[in-house]
Amino acid sequence: MVVALQANYLEVELEGSDSIAMTNLSRSQELRPCRLLCTRRTRLHHREQSVHVGDRVVVEAIDWQACRAVVSQVEPRSSWLSRPPVANITSVAVVLSLKEPLFDPDQATRFLLSAEQTGLDVHLVLSKQDLINSDQLAQQLERLRKWGYRPLTISVKKGDGLIQLKDELKNSRLAVLCGPSGVGKSSLLNCLLPSLSLRVGEVSGRLQRGRHTTRHVELFRLGEGSFVADTPGFNRPELPADPRDLAALFPELRSQLEPFPCRFRDCLHHDEPGCGMNKDWERYPLYKRCLDEMQRLSRSFRGD
Ligand code: GDP
Ligand code: ZN
Repeated sequence: MVVALQANYLEVELEGSDSIAMTNLSRSQELRPCRLLCTRRTRLHHREQSVHVGDRVVVEAIDWQACRAVVSQVEPRSSWLSRPPVANITSVAVVLSLKEPLFDPDQATRFLLSAEQTGLDVHLVLSKQDLINSDQLAQQLERLRKWGYRPLTISVKKGDGLIQLKDELKNSRLAVLCGPSGVGKSSLLNCLLPSLSLRVGEVSGRLQRGRHTTRHVELFRLGEGSFVADTPGFNRPELPADPRDLAALFPELRSQLEPFPCRFRDCLHHDEPGCGMNKDWERYPLYKRCLDEMQRLSRSFRGD
């Protein structure tokens, strides 16, 4: 599995104890999973086959002494998160803060939409619970329940919810935490992975990068066979390209459409006369604004 990318290099972790036994490492390294620094075969470049973190790859020409190899093939992907680019994820958690920065429905929605595009169950984590009172929290939970989510609230400062979150993440082969910068993702990862704090600030490993200097996604081992992706900060994910895809990404509409599809094929449930979708939900105006923006973008793309 590709665990990190840097310029033209891929860091690949071999799976299974066989790979560890095969390696000719010194005693101190014996129990560590074997990682190889890899380049890729030029024919992968020619086929324009991209390789991303989370991809399962075939390596060859292994030099066990130098821990180097060459990636010759990329296996088909089971899922895909486009921003940040991570392949084969098995769960996605959107982290949003209750305060500092204040919960922003528009930004929250963009992160949720990009998570929903993976087709996986989307977990919502609300951070900095210590900064609001219980009434405010109850209100926010009720609001998000109406959006179609059952958030887990946490506080890194007080330690609330962290065990539950770690258990949930550990059940996933490859979990991704995404969310705006400042919500506490790094603090959370440092808490979940105590050994990580050693890496902060220190330029480590063969790739010579400190954790905070990287703009790339990197995977960290949470437990046996379970990884969590550290994602670079960005604040406004793109909307999907096709307006017809949008409805399925809003749980409020999805839950209506799944049992009773709209009677008009190709209906965007915007203001089409006769569309029977219930439009009495908080994010409906936001849904329409997203549609408008997507239609504007696709028109300018087509040059209309
Ligand atoms: P990131 O950009 O999402 O990685 O966020 P950071 O982990 O860098 O945190 C941003 C700020 O929020 C820092 O000043 C943290 O100390 C603070 N922070 C993180 N978690 C909590 C929390 O649970 N409660 C409070 N009050 N502050 C937090
Ligand atoms: Zn409709």
